[in-house]
Amino acid sequence: MRYSVFSLLANALTGQKGWKPAWRDAAPKPAYDVIVVGGGGHGLATAYYLAKEHGIRNVAVIEKGWIGSGNAGRNTTIIRSNYLLPGNEPFYEWSMKLWEGLEQDLNYNAMVSQRGVLNLCHTDAQRDAYARRGNAMRLNGADAELLDQDGVRAMYPFLDFENARFPIKGGLLQRRGGTARHDAVVWGYARGADRLGVDIVQNCEVTGFIRENGAVVGVETTRGPIRAKKVGLAVAGSTSRLTSKLDMRLPIESHVLQAFVSEGLKPLIDGVITFGAGHFYVSQSDKGGLVFGGDIDGYNSYAQRGNLPVVEDVAESAMALIPRLGRVRMLRSWGGVMDMSMDGTPIIDLTPIPGLYLNTGWCYGGFKATPASGWCFAWTLAKDAPHALNAAMRLDRFRTGHIIDEKGVGAQPNLH
Ligand SMILES: Cc1cc2nc3c(=O)[nH]c(=O)nc-3n(C[C@H](O)[C@H](O)[C@H](O)COP(=O)(O)OP(=O)(O)OC[C@H]3O[C@@H](n4cnc5c(N)ncnc54)[C@H](O)[C@@H]3O)c2cc1C
Repeated sequence: MRYSVFSLLANALTGQKGWKPAWRDAAPKPAYDVIVVGGGGHGLATAYYLAKEHGIRNVAVIEKGWIGSGNAGRNTTIIRSNYLLPGNEPFYEWSMKLWEGLEQDLNYNAMVSQRGVLNLCHTDAQRDAYARRGNAMRLNGADAELLDQDGVRAMYPFLDFENARFPIKGGLLQRRGGTARHDAVVWGYARGADRLGVDIVQNCEVTGFIRENGAVVGVETTRGPIRAKKVGLAVAGSTSRLTSKLDMRLPIESHVLQAFVSEGLKPLIDGVITFGAGHFYVSQSDKGGLVFGGDIDGYNSYAQRGNLPVVEDVAESAMALIPRLGRVRMLRSWGGVMDMSMDGTPIIDLTPIPGLYLNTGWCYGGFKATPASGWCFAWTLAKDAPHALNAAMRLDRFRTGHIIDEKGVGAQPNLH
């Protein structure tokens, strides 16, 4: 059913009895053309674009829990396209353009809110780097504005501008950046894919792979074997777990990333602010809670909860930037398992194993990439070749040396 003001009115007048489930809870069939493992935003978007853009509709998304139970439902919902390098910026700007048309495309309210993302700078060198980044963004069709201290002060007068260690010198503002409602993005893609014939199979864990003559020709699951011509992995922090079943080692480390939400407050922060001298960023949800996050925990883990040292670290950064946060009570914290690549850039590619395709390495920032990731992975699965937008996001770049190290920090997952 199509959502519109007319469907709202019709249901309001008939006791809300006409609504249909947004997607079917499908049982797995014995075989598909394509299986996408992982019912997060990336997996569901991949299935949607496979059906919509390439007419491949005999597709299943296989999810071990419920859709959106992984990082897609745990992130801090920030979207932006403020990247520097040619391997990244066109991809993220394409994602931003897809966000801008997403709700009309999916006929679903994903609460895309272009409220602006402001990256603060605290040194002259950092301001120079932001000027360069802003220019790279504009060359790729994105919007960017370099603000001086007065420009930042006009937006957020309560920041600690004269902090002795981290004085605020200005910032790089992307007005088209902002937030989107993470659950709604998952549900919107699920509904869109389902309408095009995709089976969304929940409570079905992939436990291994069916192989013939070296190729992957299906998956073993807790609900039995399912065959497929192609299998795409979009399982974020669980990627290395699954590829280990194929004796494939990846340049990925899994780490916990935590996020936090405060008690509900009156409107205080209308955009997204990121601290430039440490890992801390904050925005305010529509319910009034301040949503903030920081660094990954400093050890490898598949657990979906973090530890106290990072909580302290995030609180310190928060206080350095917005001292009044010291009087705010924290409501909840949670964690997700991040797929940290060694250069901070994702991998969307074929693999050396025929029939197996890879979508991983999203580090801190895969939510904003959801539309472009699904769009490019669908292309790669359909055409057996990467699109120009993900051509540099190759798996073999770590062997050939063509890494895309956005921050220039090397193989240090916590710095990406
Ligand atoms: C606290 C936190 C804050 C973040 N903030 C931001 C942000 O503000 N902006 C941003 O851009 N990004 C952010 N991210 C990153 C972003 O959430 C992720 O990069 C992105 O959601 C990854 O999407 P996905 O669909 O690949 O992964 P997921 O949503 O994790 O989906 C993978 C799915 O695979 C399933 N799965 C795993 N193993 C199997 C198996 N064996 N069989 C079947 N299914 C399996 C899981 O259950 C899961 O549902 C944040 C992440 C966290 C944890």
